[in-house]
Amino acid sequence: MQTTPAVAGQVSRAEREPGSRAPLSEGDGSPVIRVEGLRKTYQTARGALTLFEDLDFQVEAREMVAIVGQSGAGKSTLLHILGALDAPSAGKVYCASTDVAALNPRQAAAFRNREIGYLWQFHYLLPEFTAQENVAMPLMARGVRRQDAEAVAVNWLREVGLEDRGDHRAGELSGGEQQRVALARALVNNPRLLLADEPTGDLDSITAGRVFELIARLHASHGLTSVLVTHNMDLAAHCTRVLRLEGGRLTTVPQMGNPAGSA
Ligand code: ADP
Repeated sequence: MQTTPAVAGQVSRAEREPGSRAPLSEGDGSPVIRVEGLRKTYQTARGALTLFEDLDFQVEAREMVAIVGQSGAGKSTLLHILGALDAPSAGKVYCASTDVAALNPRQAAAFRNREIGYLWQFHYLLPEFTAQENVAMPLMARGVRRQDAEAVAVNWLREVGLEDRGDHRAGELSGGEQQRVALARALVNNPRLLLADEPTGDLDSITAGRVFELIARLHASHGLTSVLVTHNMDLAAHCTRVLRLEGGRLTTVPQMGNPAGSA
């Protein structure tokens, strides 16, 4: 990654001025995500539930990959495993050059904070705090002074087109605006990877399209590698690759100029 290393309590120039950052990349051409022989089994009251068995796939730097599939197929579980929020039962998961399964809880938390921006279907903003305070929080959690963190937050709010909403309470914003703030918060720590789980699933179709466009724009302008779970095939079709998760297997959904094949 080409960005200035994050030092506790400091913000780099790249963080202060998000629009000025050089695109991130792995540099050495290796995939940002490499999954090998992944198995995930949940023990349930009805017995073992195996979602994946021997799953392999890779995501290259700067790809924007959509994962589609029926409810219950395991899409969220897969995203959680990639983001060190859930552990594989077997197999290797390398994400942003890190063997995520080998991290202890403290290391996993640091890894998530440093490398990954999460966007969920529901924004999970703190409604009583302003948009600016919500965006500044991940920086302050890292030890950045409030004043500096809020200055960075202002820049990110500009990036998502909400510079005039910084002092509005999150609870008073529209659904689309809240998801834009959540996107700014997801990216404020300068992550390499964006993981999004149905990020437009709670929005009407026009607003969903606009939020998706914004995600795609920031993905490109910040050199992110993104994995999005969505059930919206129209939006998924704008990604560089669409994978369908079904029966524990990932297959490539053919797109224009993207021939069918396995993941
Ligand atoms: P999707 O995102 O594709 O809808 P999920 O990954 O949320 O699917 O869930 C896949 C399956 O795994 C579902 O049947 C769900 O009930 C089950 N599951 C998810 N999390 C757990 C858990 N912590 N314990 C037991 N079963 C789980």
